[in-house]
Amino acid sequence: MLDVSEIFGPTIQGEGKKIGTPSIFIRFGRCNFDCNGFGVEYTTPSGVKKFGCDSYYAVDSEFKKFWKSYENHLEIVAEVEKILPADYKPDIVITGGEPMIYWKNEEFQKLLEYYVTNRFNVTIETNGSLDIDITKSYQQDILYSISVKLSNANESYKKRVNFRALEEMITKSKKSYLKFVIDENHKNSIEEIKDILSKLPNAQVFLMPMGDSKDEIVKNSLYVIELCVKYGYKYSDRLHIRVWDNKRGV
Ligand code: SF4
Repeated sequence: MLDVSEIFGPTIQGEGKKIGTPSIFIRFGRCNFDCNGFGVEYTTPSGVKKFGCDSYYAVDSEFKKFWKSYENHLEIVAEVEKILPADYKPDIVITGGEPMIYWKNEEFQKLLEYYVTNRFNVTIETNGSLDIDITKSYQQDILYSISVKLSNANESYKKRVNFRALEEMITKSKKSYLKFVIDENHKNSIEEIKDILSKLPNAQVFLMPMGDSKDEIVKNSLYVIELCVKYGYKYSDRLHIRVWDNKRGV
């Protein structure tokens, strides 16, 4: 069964290497982290106040009643069909939650294969912590946008940094890259990144400001740009937040 939190678009990709590209997003439910260090406060359907990331509604299983479960990948394809533009093929972005939870699911693989073989550009946004094997050619054609979590996410190092998985994605799909979320309160982030990159010297790297609101992105972006310029990393904005603030489904 594939649990999907939402399917929306076309809109633009708001972050990372393909920022600005018209895209349809398939957001899977469930995650192996909660990243409460990102400090986004929310209330669960049962009224409990918690902290998490800006995709908490796709992470916290209390929101499962709002997700839709699909048995067959073609049901998801049919949902996407309804919003496909007539004149062009948008990118297909598989996101979450943590979509790699479904990597071993046959229907998940069929979904990926369907879009790659039908000449859509496919991105998977992942935290890069789960073991996967990339063995098929369509899997190598996917862009893996890997947001490795730093200590500011408040998850243990052992859980969040999986060199085997990172190497698998970076070496098997040359388009793949790493993206780190940065905020001014964690000055050791650069040391953490350098430590990770010492074992992944060929990875392309983007730094991105933390924040789930326009104000926070504005507040953190200058600091992140200065780090990029100082250390030679690429800057990624969070354009969707800058434009639409924390509105969902745009
Ligand atoms: S890994 Fe990503 S989706 Fe999961 S809790 Fe952390 S930021 Fe949210």
